[in-house]
Amino acid sequence: MMKMKKALALVLASVMLVLTLAACGGETAEKLVMGTNAAFPPYEFKEGETIVGIDADIAAALAEKLGVELEIKDMAFESLIPAVAGGSVDIVLAGMTVTDERKESVNFSDSYATGIQSVIIAEDSAIASIDDLAGKIIGVQTGTTGDIYCSDDYGEEAIKRYDNGALAVQALINGQVDCVVIDNQPALAFVEANEGLKILDTEYAIEDYAIAIGKDDPELLEKINVALAELKADGKIDEIVSKYIKAE
Ligand code: GLN
Repeated sequence: MMKMKKALALVLASVMLVLTLAACGGETAEKLVMGTNAAFPPYEFKEGETIVGIDADIAAALAEKLGVELEIKDMAFESLIPAVAGGSVDIVLAGMTVTDERKESVNFSDSYATGIQSVIIAEDSAIASIDDLAGKIIGVQTGTTGDIYCSDDYGEEAIKRYDNGALAVQALINGQVDCVVIDNQPALAFVEANEGLKILDTEYAIEDYAIAIGKDDPELLEKINVALAELKADGKIDEIVSKYIKAE
């Protein structure tokens, strides 16, 4: 009888040890993996090998609130929704616009910023307003809302797709496209960084940016929304934005 009890106690003790080890291991290994496309200044871009920008800083602040480590994975914009839907990343922050079509594959957090689709043209371009885009060749980033709207409005023949905004802008500089439709903040950054470009006054579309999360992770969605609300309330989001976007 005594022996049995001892054996049982031993078994229980080792089970508890294993559980404790598992818990500890889990804690230190807990990581939040963010997917982005780091060619979208000032939201995400590279400084040397490090990915920085508004989204990177917001994600770091969220990870801190959640008490986890942040890892950022850089990939093509069009791979981001499949990556988060398939679970190879936990969240996507990529100046990503909330659309009904994307909502079919992922959940979106509350919005944290407004985006505007703008049109970049050469300073000496004959394009004076959105109405002049008909019949022109439009450069876009593959899979973005700029791509989707322009393909719908002007047809496939009018669109030239690039892996990122920088390549689309380079094509404009080289004269391979007549304009680039892209979000306003990267547009401003690209115009500032390159001679001879300007942005049309008229806006193409106004949209909301949010964080994409896998549909099978409603708990994470809830946690992110709570943390995001705290970061908005305590002024952290404003602080991050004004670090990268200087008021005029
Ligand atoms: N806001 C646009 C979209 O969601 C572009 C985002 C991006 O290129 N990073 O489609």
